[in-house]
Amino acid sequence: MSESNTGDGTTENSAVRRPADWEADRLRDLASEFGTPLYVVDPDRVRQNCERLLGAFPDATVDYAVKANTARTVLETVEDAGLGAECASAGEVRRALDAGFAPEEVRYTAVNPPAADLDAVVEWWREGADLTVTVGARTTLDALAERGYDGRLCVRVNPEVGAGHHAKVTTGDAPQFGVPFDDATDAASAASEVGEFVGLHAHVGSGVSGDDLSAHEVLVGRMAMLADELDESPEFVSVGGGFGVPYRREDPPLDLDAVADATRAAFDCDARLVVEPGRYVVADAGILLTEVTAVKETAETTVVGVDAGMTTLLRPALYDAYHEVRSLSASIDDRVPTSCLVAGPVCETADVLGEERVLPEPKRGDLLSVGTTGAYGYEMASTYNSRPRPAVVTLDGETVARRETLADLTRLEGGEQS
Ligand SMILES: *Cc1c(COP(=O)(O)O)cnc(C)c1O
Repeated sequence: MSESNTGDGTTENSAVRRPADWEADRLRDLASEFGTPLYVVDPDRVRQNCERLLGAFPDATVDYAVKANTARTVLETVEDAGLGAECASAGEVRRALDAGFAPEEVRYTAVNPPAADLDAVVEWWREGADLTVTVGARTTLDALAERGYDGRLCVRVNPEVGAGHHAKVTTGDAPQFGVPFDDATDAASAASEVGEFVGLHAHVGSGVSGDDLSAHEVLVGRMAMLADELDESPEFVSVGGGFGVPYRREDPPLDLDAVADATRAAFDCDARLVVEPGRYVVADAGILLTEVTAVKETAETTVVGVDAGMTTLLRPALYDAYHEVRSLSASIDDRVPTSCLVAGPVCETADVLGEERVLPEPKRGDLLSVGTTGAYGYEMASTYNSRPRPAVVTLDGETVARRETLADLTRLEGGEQS
């Protein structure tokens, strides 16, 4: 581990844990005990990431965007470290409450919310969970009022600035997120008529990075200005998440202090600052293990077939995301470096985990790791191709989620609708 454990209880909290920092022996042991594909998550690293965030933003509220990784052990670790929870659905709200987050620290960000989500969240609120609902459309206020909700309300604003490494993760200027900037003041008044208006919210999407802080600063500045202009000053202004993590070996770690300084400098208002990172909390606390199942020389490249694919890790297929692939085989010293296409078991051209990856000459049975997969990895796994979802374990070998079975795949068929 790069966080060299000195044995006296102090552990250095480095800015990033690289795929090479995971102890290969330990990962090999876990793969042989639990099989592959296997997600490994390290709650100690989750805790370190939380501590770095709280250290960089001592005067702000830091909420974890739960959708990045909802594993119970992750939620409990984050809650214990002192973060709140930002939830994207009733299911996430339920999981956050069950993991021990105090309702006052839970925000439900309702994007075009299904009726069932609002029904459930309003019911929990009526039972005493004093959570906050963030609305991104006036009609959502109507839907809440119809259900008798008059609790804490936050208005999501479209700041009309965008940042992000890929068009599909740039949410700041996509029209489906938040009320239009020019309508924000009126929407805040409308919220005060329905319930208790407590906050403003915006999220520009992922990709806040060292050389791209300008969009973040513009967003923070616009939100602070808006908060100041309201008749009734909100308790808090959330400026979203999107803190970048280095996926490539050559990427420098995010300068969290620089992000915090830039945020504070642009945040010129009386409300409390809220940030809500997801990826940053968990990405480098997880790694995916997969076994080589087939090797084939072609005219173009060496194709390495593995037992993890787009149903295990969707991000490469969905976003062209890059994840480092490493060989964990114990006997690689004398193997020739070989440029490879790493492909999964699904009959789709998009089922590629990496192209032009140099690996020690691959052999069937080799163990590979796919790095920095703690965020949006297992969460986006599916059973397409009737492929059971993988298992998840902690670095200590505790089961987080058991491996799905073939029987699990059909257990929803033929029953009664609930
Ligand atoms: C997804 C999301 C986040 C977290 O984004 P990251 O890139 O994982 O930090 C924060 N806020 C909202 C509203 C989101 O939808």
